[in-house]
Amino acid sequence: MAASILPSMKKHLRQSFDAKMLQTQSIIAKWIRSCPPEKQAVGLSGGKDSAAVLHQVMGAASAFLKDGDFKKINVVFENTGVEYPQTVTFVHNLQKQWDFNLIELKPEKTFWECIKEDGHYPRGKSRRGKNVDTCCLVLKEKPITKFIKDNDIQVLYDGITALESRNRMIWGSIDGTCHFAQKWNVNKVHPILYWSEPEVWRYHGMMNIPVNPVYSMGAKRCGCMVCTAHQGWEDELSKTNPGMLRKILNDMGQEQLS
Ligand code: SF4
Repeated sequence: MAASILPSMKKHLRQSFDAKMLQTQSIIAKWIRSCPPEKQAVGLSGGKDSAAVLHQVMGAASAFLKDGDFKKINVVFENTGVEYPQTVTFVHNLQKQWDFNLIELKPEKTFWECIKEDGHYPRGKSRRGKNVDTCCLVLKEKPITKFIKDNDIQVLYDGITALESRNRMIWGSIDGTCHFAQKWNVNKVHPILYWSEPEVWRYHGMMNIPVNPVYSMGAKRCGCMVCTAHQGWEDELSKTNPGMLRKILNDMGQEQLS
């Protein structure tokens, strides 16, 4: 369900598509030019939003960097181990097609170990936006923050859009398209923060960007296949992997995960 628009976000979200494209290009151009390429990273989930951002970072790199320097930019795919198999294949194929520097991060523990520790499947963020599930910390936050620290990454581009959820709308209104994330010690850049879903698809069509097949299977998001922390997860999983849905519902019916 689309998030309701906060008054402070109206002027950004109601810009024309052309204005949003120009704004996105200038945000990326500013960071591409001001930071060594090896200190920059693009988060690629395999979804439509991060693919659109990666495509635009590639465009800016070919305009502003020396030949070959784009390959110094880190394109980080966090493979949680519970991705749709189609997503993993899609990311690998995209790498072959676009020839970027793919960094595939893997967690130290499995999703199944995390939920066993918690005693429940993921429940999502608290009202204050804090992760309450061990899996998000172990499968996502720890690998990326370690990568940022080990490689002295200064800029991390992502495909966050404000209309995705209420939390994103609120944080988008506070942080805007760029902010320094103290906890991760990195500048987080959200080049398509103000884009709507149809605008992202429009960009895909215009640029002929390959599309992850999970969308045509019925998934609305392409993250962890087993995630139960978002609205509509049951409906989505019933289309994409009914066997897994049966297992999760069965586990949830039991008192303890074992
Ligand atoms: S997206 Fe869901 S399943 Fe994946 S790490 Fe976060 S809470 Fe866990």
